[in-house]
Amino acid sequence: MASSRNSPQEKTSARQKTQRHNAARRLRKLYQHLVDRFGPQQWWPAKSAFEVVVGAYLTQNTAWTSVERSIANLEARGLLTPAGLRAVDEGDLQQLIRPSGFMLRKAAALKAFAGFLETHYRGNMKRLRWAATEDQARVREELLALPGVGDETADAILLYALDSPAMVVDEYLRRVTVRHGLVPERAKYAEIQAVAESAFAQDAARESREELARHYNEFHALVVQVGKAHCGRVARCEGCALEFDLRKRGVNAGASRPRGGSGKGKGPH
Ligand code: SF4
Repeated sequence: MASSRNSPQEKTSARQKTQRHNAARRLRKLYQHLVDRFGPQQWWPAKSAFEVVVGAYLTQNTAWTSVERSIANLEARGLLTPAGLRAVDEGDLQQLIRPSGFMLRKAAALKAFAGFLETHYRGNMKRLRWAATEDQARVREELLALPGVGDETADAILLYALDSPAMVVDEYLRRVTVRHGLVPERAKYAEIQAVAESAFAQDAARESREELARHYNEFHALVVQVGKAHCGRVARCEGCALEFDLRKRGVNAGASRPRGGSGKGKGPH
């Protein structure tokens, strides 16, 4: 007869599952408070899916205002298309995207994406989008294999350019989840993503992919909103829509400064 006692590993796994479930439930509640405070958001008003991809690359470690200048340069030269980026000389491209910094690395990465799109999807963003609808995990792997694409950029492309339900974890979401004790201070990208996705598990069960993607989109926009208004490198909790949660737990987040970036590279908001 099998023993009813759980092994230490099983106990740890069950405990982690419960912790994640509780964190997801709390995050969902925080999300509702952000909806109530900030209302519906409008995110990433790009003219085309390809422009979103270009923006996702350019915004890495850079403020969005700088990205806008680079995008305007590309647009003025008629290069905001897959064919345009394939054709342009890499040195010229570097100069055009100079305002958003890291121009050597970013120009090479953009050229690589344009080449990848041509080779695998006949240069057509609609084909890439269709592939993501069929198998989001495979397209994510393909994106991650490209130079200059990490988790956040891959998920931003999936969500904003391909309308696929990929949860984007950025510095703002990291700050909020760490400061509210929803994840450990040194939580990895996948860990934060899992908690955030779990917060939408019920929606995922009843919504279409497109609806869920819109939900993720809205969530991310609201997190960025609260990040910009209150949850910067130093938390300014007074008056923040999520302050009630800290009070309830007797936490002083003003003293908490999660490691990591400046909050740059957060898209158009
Ligand atoms: S500013 Fe304070 S209350 Fe607001 S999200 Fe950040 S840690 Fe929470």
